[in-house]
Amino acid sequence: MNKQSAQKASSPRTIAIIGGGVVGAAASLTLSMKGYQVTVFEPDEIGAGTSSGNAGGIVTGAVLPTATPGVISAIPSYIFDRNSAAVLRPSYFFKILPWLFRFIASARPARVASIASDLQPLVSRAMQAHLSLSEISNAQHLIKPAGWLKVYGTDSGFAATAFDRELMTRHGVNFLVLNAKEIEELEPNLDKAVYKHGIFQPESGFVNYPKALTQAYFERARQNGTQHIREAVVEVKPQSAGSGITVKTKQGLHVFDSVVVATGAWSKQFAKQCGDTVCLDTERGYHVSFRTGEKQLLNRPVSFPENHFVLSPMHDGVSMVSGDELAGLSAPPDFRRIRALIPFARKALPGIAEQQVQREWMGYRPSTPDSLPVIGRSPRHSNVFYAFGHGHLGLTLSAITAQLISSLVSDDPMPFDITPYRINRF
Ligand SMILES: Cc1cc2nc3c(=O)[nH]c(=O)nc-3n(C[C@H](O)[C@H](O)[C@H](O)COP(=O)(O)OP(=O)(O)OC[C@H]3O[C@@H](n4cnc5c(N)ncnc54)[C@H](O)[C@@H]3O)c2cc1C
Repeated sequence: MNKQSAQKASSPRTIAIIGGGVVGAAASLTLSMKGYQVTVFEPDEIGAGTSSGNAGGIVTGAVLPTATPGVISAIPSYIFDRNSAAVLRPSYFFKILPWLFRFIASARPARVASIASDLQPLVSRAMQAHLSLSEISNAQHLIKPAGWLKVYGTDSGFAATAFDRELMTRHGVNFLVLNAKEIEELEPNLDKAVYKHGIFQPESGFVNYPKALTQAYFERARQNGTQHIREAVVEVKPQSAGSGITVKTKQGLHVFDSVVVATGAWSKQFAKQCGDTVCLDTERGYHVSFRTGEKQLLNRPVSFPENHFVLSPMHDGVSMVSGDELAGLSAPPDFRRIRALIPFARKALPGIAEQQVQREWMGYRPSTPDSLPVIGRSPRHSNVFYAFGHGHLGLTLSAITAQLISSLVSDDPMPFDITPYRINRF
């Protein structure tokens, strides 16, 4: 028996996945397809948390990280200007300081360029990975090749995208610069007064019901024997070499060969229990949903970067998705900022001018300061795997992350270098 097959013979058979968001559900599918006995620990319904309320974009051209040159001068506005790209609650300032320092360090031009190079192998494979998982789980109808459209109302707003366009060009992203007439052809129901320029990424995908996609991935995994234990994990404890991992909930103890930590913004505690430190916080995000009945007002998500929101035609109405709020995991939601954007959304899309707001929602983006996810094996325990920290791109990157995790667990060759996503990079 050669080394590789010896490794495979001894590879883990029982695997716990902690967290049943889109990343955990996708990983349950890829691992169960390889024959592992998978158990997902998720206290809620599968896919009901942050993974249910996002804008639905599978954004295959997202090579620009959140921290970009100029961010240092923007940080005071996070505290004092409610209309800035992000808000920072003053009461959370000292808690997030270490994360903010690293965020600022990630904004150096050379670092941004290297982060973009590290995002590229993930985002460029994201759509294909989803198509493959959706085919296995009979969910192809939930993913549409609709593209990702950004529109700008001013020349200066568009000019400010020069760096993003340069990065996309450098990394082979297919995008088109559109004039007003071309935007109108794509989205005839938008008010022409709110846009002058557009950037369109035709290869991006759109999921108008992200919770359904997450549940479809899990349902296929369930057919392969995956179990859902509806309990919150309180402790993950690797045993001495080779004797597995104990997963403790309030209700009892379970032992597995391996564990995948996929608890999104709540992952830091489990990494710590396994001896690994990570720089992770949450960028909270909001949506308000307008009831639109059967009317198809938009053909895809439309982003208005100058006003910091996206309008997305979701399965139950148009969602206005916005907000990047640094306030931690326990502060109550503050809907004032997104409510203040409603008049502009109603103007941009006159079809929602009279429509009632049917829901206000908040979710927790699991965010690292360098906008790269944490994907890989724990440096301390070979049977602990990490799959979290996907920030603004968790839906986009869930399927490719799941494929990488299943390859890692089974010691298959990696399709590209995943060391940029290692947990101990901070
Ligand atoms: C407003 C907004 C818009 C967004 N738009 C997009 C977009 O268009 N495209 C895109 O790609 N991404 C988008 N995102 C980001 C994306 O939604 C997230 O990155 C993604 O949902 C994270 O998935 P996850 O599975 O890692 O985490 P989650 O969905 O948060 O799942 C983690 C799960 O872990 C569970 N958990 C927590 N603690 C425990 C415990 N102790 N034991 C067991 N389970 C536990 C939670 O209940 C939760 O279900 C958006 C996010 C927001 C907020």
